Amino acid sequence: MINFRIEPDLQARLDWMAAFVRRECEPMDMLFPGHGAPYDVTDRKARAHLKPLQKEVKAQGLWACHLGAELGGPGYGQLTLALMNELLGRSYWAPTIFGTAAPDTGNSEILAMFGTDEQKARYLKPLIDGEIVSTFSMTEPQAGADPKEFTCRAWREGDEWVIEGEKWFSSNARFAAFLIVMVVTNPENPPHGRMSMLIVPADAPGLEFIRHSQTMGDRRGDDDGIHAYIRYNRVRVPLDAMLGNPGEGFKVAQARLGGGRVHHAMRTVGKCQRAIDMMLERAVSRHTQGKQLGEHQFVQGAIADSIIELEQFRLLVLKTAWIIDEVESGREPHGAARTHIAMCKVQMAKVCHDIVQRAIQMHGSLGMTLETPLADMWMGLPALALADGPTEVHKVQVAKAHLKNATRASGLFPSEHIPTRLAAIRERNTA
Ligand SMILES: Cc1cc2nc3c(=O)[nH]c(=O)nc-3n(C[C@H](O)[C@H](O)[C@H](O)COP(=O)(O)OP(=O)(O)OC[C@H]3O[C@@H](n4cnc5c(N)ncnc54)[C@H](O)[C@@H]3O)c2cc1C
Repeated sequence: MINFRIEPDLQARLDWMAAFVRRECEPMDMLFPGHGAPYDVTDRKARAHLKPLQKEVKAQGLWACHLGAELGGPGYGQLTLALMNELLGRSYWAPTIFGTAAPDTGNSEILAMFGTDEQKARYLKPLIDGEIVSTFSMTEPQAGADPKEFTCRAWREGDEWVIEGEKWFSSNARFAAFLIVMVVTNPENPPHGRMSMLIVPADAPGLEFIRHSQTMGDRRGDDDGIHAYIRYNRVRVPLDAMLGNPGEGFKVAQARLGGGRVHHAMRTVGKCQRAIDMMLERAVSRHTQGKQLGEHQFVQGAIADSIIELEQFRLLVLKTAWIIDEVESGREPHGAARTHIAMCKVQMAKVCHDIVQRAIQMHGSLGMTLETPLADMWMGLPALALADGPTEVHKVQVAKAHLKNATRASGLFPSEHIPTRLAAIRERNTA
């Protein structure tokens, strides 16, 4: 049965999280606003603020809520996580404070799934404990949305893998202790069996940062961004640095990207809700033409559209989380959530764009300044439609999943053609 009731225990946790995010996490956004700030483990001032907050979260049993109990997380499942991530999505720092920041979440998941005991001890434990950060290095300067175009390769020399090639937009690499790099190792295989994953320590000789790109909204100096353009100049790692088996790179990537996408969608619900909260406050706080802003019908329309669109999107996210829980408990086949995750990915960019745009409009000139959270929300919008794969690719996936189950019309006209159906019904009735 479908049930939207939230148990009192969970509600109490959510209430604690909501208050904590407002009281402790949102101030961190204002005190340390750089895009890289939550990942910069060398920033002593920010860390001094961060550590006690992380301790408080751990004491509440709310640390790394995406992880199952076997990995030291509470193992709440995706549906509960969706409700929690909604609250964390209101603040840029909150995921770091709660141990659920991407890309470390996805990297810890694949280390847990495919890592050897030694890899887990060396990389997974400190990653989960929040002591280090990591990078997922997949996109290349000439190819992103289609990994079949990747050329960064690795080959065996003695007891080592040698990596050569370039990677683009490897987020947080300047702060990372290690990178998980997708490389072509088996060019002779069919496309999906050509790639492998290698774990590369950040201080490996030959790892060269060409540039650190900034994205819009990151207000710092040149070459001070967090998205690294990297050249791997014959970087050598031991054979046991491989995550999974040779040729399994696609499989490993898929295992992390699905979770990453849906977690972004969960957090985007929170971001949209924050924009709506701001709209509502503005609508009852400002007057024009002799009445409150919220008494004007255009404003009411903007509010209603935003609330309805967010409710629809939130239900899609919750259903997707439910399907993943069913898959993980073995009640649904592996991959059952893929199409729904793609739907979330497409919709989050659109819904967030429309809601944030209305919130900015309603705030007038103030909405355009850097004096409210709306500016960061707005400048983060393109990333929602690009990171983890562009909208178009996900739309294609949704359409293809349904097209493959579609049945060809048996005659000249569609099966819904009324004259054809009527003729058949009449024939049946006279028979
Ligand atoms: C904020 C941010 C963080 C990121 N972090 C990382 C990271 O940590 N690690 C990493 O490896 N990558 C990262 N990326 C890269 C991201 O995965 C790529 O941007 C994404 O896969 C798209 O690749 P691309 O940028 O090369 O665009 P392209 O592949 O060049 O695509 C450009 C455009 O072409 C069109 N297009 C592409 N394919 C199709 C298609 N099949 N059908 C129709 N139209 C299509 C779309 O309009 C698309 O937006 C990040 C990106 C962003 C924005």
